[in-house]
Amino acid sequence: MSDIQRLSFDVIVIGAGGAGLRAAIESRMAGKKTAIISKSLFGKAHTVMAEGGAAAAMGNANSKDNWQVHFRDTMRGGKFLNHFRMAELHAKEAPERIWELETYGALFDRTPDGKISQRNFGGHEYPRLAHVGDRTGLELIRTLQQKIVSLQQEDKRDGGGYESKLAIFAETTITELLLDEGRIAGAFGYHRQSGEFVLFEAPAVILATGGIGKSFKVTSNSWEYTGDGHALALRAGATLVNMEFVQFHPTGMVWPPSVKGILVTESVRGDGGVLRNSEGKRFMFEYIPEVFKAQYATTEEEADRWYTDPENNRRPPELLPRDEVARAINSEVKAGRGTPHGGVFLDVSTRMKPEQIIKRLPSMHHQFKELADVDITAEPMEVGPTCHYVMGGVEVDPDTEQSKVPGLYAAGEVAGGMHGSNRLGGNSLSDLLVFGKRAGEHAARYVGGLAERPRVDEDELASVKNAASELLLDALPEGAENPYTLQHELQQVMNDLVGIIRRAGELEEAIDKLEEFKKRAKNVRATGGRKYNPGWHLALDIRNMLTVSECVAKAALERTESRGGHTREDNPAMDPNWRKVNLICSSNGPNITLKRQPVPTMTDELLALFERAELSKYLTAEELEAYDAATA
Ligand code: FAD
Repeated sequence: MSDIQRLSFDVIVIGAGGAGLRAAIESRMAGKKTAIISKSLFGKAHTVMAEGGAAAAMGNANSKDNWQVHFRDTMRGGKFLNHFRMAELHAKEAPERIWELETYGALFDRTPDGKISQRNFGGHEYPRLAHVGDRTGLELIRTLQQKIVSLQQEDKRDGGGYESKLAIFAETTITELLLDEGRIAGAFGYHRQSGEFVLFEAPAVILATGGIGKSFKVTSNSWEYTGDGHALALRAGATLVNMEFVQFHPTGMVWPPSVKGILVTESVRGDGGVLRNSEGKRFMFEYIPEVFKAQYATTEEEADRWYTDPENNRRPPELLPRDEVARAINSEVKAGRGTPHGGVFLDVSTRMKPEQIIKRLPSMHHQFKELADVDITAEPMEVGPTCHYVMGGVEVDPDTEQSKVPGLYAAGEVAGGMHGSNRLGGNSLSDLLVFGKRAGEHAARYVGGLAERPRVDEDELASVKNAASELLLDALPEGAENPYTLQHELQQVMNDLVGIIRRAGELEEAIDKLEEFKKRAKNVRATGGRKYNPGWHLALDIRNMLTVSECVAKAALERTESRGGHTREDNPAMDPNWRKVNLICSSNGPNITLKRQPVPTMTDELLALFERAELSKYLTAEELEAYDAATA
């Protein structure tokens, strides 16, 4: 087909956030010809927006920290639904990945004695987040890009071109994966700038497309996050695990309306910010759940003492995992104790001096001053929950990151399993480094082991090209659906019926509405030229948004318990029997099917890292019996 640009690589990486860049570096270092493709500008990804830091048990701020403590915290945060092997690899390898970044040129903030400084974050027992002010993601991306440039310079020096082994395609969106007898053969998409179609022939694809937040009305996510990677994986025959777990970050901006949902970093609470309701009450003490009672302070005095004497006091409840804090804020607002704009107050001005706040939280200071005319060094912020992160994602092998489809890998936010039912802050930046590296390494190894390259089927190529072309017309026919109208309605439904607090009846209503949207989506069309046409782009994205929304809603209805990022008002308790179940989504043509699958059993060695009393909060009686027998 002459009107399609055709390119050939060994490995293509879809996504240029931290996971994608780290994967591409590894694949190129393994000698594979690698392409990095990103829907938006190179460098503009959620990773760059990450503020607080990357969690890694380096033990710099407290020598008692180690991988075992980090593993425990991660499993607790995920309410024991995490894939234990991913949590183990992550805790063990994160420090090495952070050190490695410094060898690439990153410069983290320092302790007075010159070590990498580490800050407190919710759910982490010790200060653990390596950071650069509140602009950690920026430094991470800058460093990975710098490493890529240095590899490209090596390739040039060695006689190739700068992009002979590592090429970058910014503002290029992948709309379909192509298969050869069930194996990856390539990916098809378009260049946003020219509208030209492009085929990347490659035996291995690494999905690093990030999250799905744009399916919800109030979100910290930006326009690209339409769940493309999740949907691409499903359509190619891979599976998604536990899509019901969506993280609502407790602190998004609530005012003014144009910025509602923009993130207020957890570092504000990590650095001593307290939450109060409209009556001035520091309400989090009322919301410490049973499973966390032993670790959190029950009085303001003890909580305040913890900042200067963490050894002899328990942590403030503002630093509970995100799901707990988000639900607490939601309850306060619902009970009529919210701020004038429907949030609660978050105040750091009484804890730190203005110059300290500006030094430690420069982006937050700037964000509130510019967007809300609030000076956070002198007055509280108004904050409320915002859809932030999806714990569910592509089901992968924990060691290799390969999905069910040979040649298809996933790393970073698009992959599932690592965070269980709730991600701890800071665990994403380290996740994408650890598993990005592993995905790059194993994709390269897979390509190296192939006897012959899979081939792209020309009929399939013509069909995906036609599917993309036919959405764009000179004039809209009668009955055509506007993609923006459909997106708006979808976001409202997901927010209202599949949001932070869920009920069976509302979830059923959402699923019915999604069926109706799917029918309407068949008539979505856009007009105008092929160059930079956002209406056409959204028309292509909307089916991905509908697919992932259906997975979230169906899994949320199926899981009749509350755990982490999934709260069922009609089933408020955590049920040990559900802890043994992963919900797996697959696609059967236009329909999403859901099945239950056993959660892999944690090794006794890892179980032994927990007190038996703690295990009894999560495991069933039979599991405990088996554990007792094994450890007797
Ligand atoms: P991303 O960085 O999200 O990158 C995804 C890439 O995929 C982008 O390049 C995008 O253009 C591309 N893409 C998507 N679809 C397509 C397609 N169809 N074709 C081609 N390209 C595509 N986590 C922490 O650990 N610590 C923090 O302090 C922190 N702060 C955060 C602050 C904010 C405001 C936000 C939104 C998130 C924060 N997170 C934080 C979460 C964390 O940043 C993300 O989960 C993480 O960066 C995801 O990285 P990733 O590499 O998986 O994907």
